[in-house]
Amino acid sequence: MACAWDFQFRVLLLGDSGVGKTSLLKRYTEEEFTDTTGPTVGVDFCCRIEEPEAGVKVRLQFWDTAGQERYRAVTRSYYRNAACVILLFDLTAHKTFESIQNWYQEVQERAQPHPLLFLLLGTKSDMHGQRRVPREEAQSLADSIRAPYLETSARTGSNVAAALSLLCRELLRAARQEKPAPAEHGCGGCTVAEETPQKKILCTC
Ligand code: GDP
Ligand code: MG
Repeated sequence: MACAWDFQFRVLLLGDSGVGKTSLLKRYTEEEFTDTTGPTVGVDFCCRIEEPEAGVKVRLQFWDTAGQERYRAVTRSYYRNAACVILLFDLTAHKTFESIQNWYQEVQERAQPHPLLFLLLGTKSDMHGQRRVPREEAQSLADSIRAPYLETSARTGSNVAAALSLLCRELLRAARQEKPAPAEHGCGGCTVAEETPQKKILCTC
């Protein structure tokens, strides 16, 4: 049977409740934005296949915390085998930016093995005039954790595809250079449903 993809990476989304994690994923995977994304239970999955190079298929498997982040009660299993962590904060809420350092620490303590890379995103860039986090401040934090930094809007779609395709290229590069991909190589079909039948499945691939 031919492989459906060449690499698969588990990508976690972390950040305070309300920063726009679910909206970003929805924009990226469904090209949609809705003003209120309802509360969800457990962990949401979705996935998308990218082709960062001709003939190389990379399956990004996203894990979205669904509510637990509100109570800082994200379970250890959430962090397992994460290849990448996207840290998100709301550009219009400085408090969410201040939390990033805590989220980063938490990943360092809990994730096994450690993720290959981090990506820092400032969200809601469409809310002009309400910015509370200067770009330089965010860039400086990103530099300190050696993460690329981008400002995105799930509402307009600005930089969403760019951020994820950057992530995909970086993951591929890191996996080839440093060590075998922590996630399993795929060989047809979606294994997510089997792993956690109790969780809500957003993807159909
Ligand atoms: P989560 O708790 O981090 O998953 O955040 P949600 O995706 O549920 O978003 C929280 C709120 O912010 C919702 O009302 C969204 O409509 C809103 N939101 C999310 N992304 C954006 C964005 O890019 N621009 C604007 N203006 N609002 C957004
Ligand atoms: Mg959410």
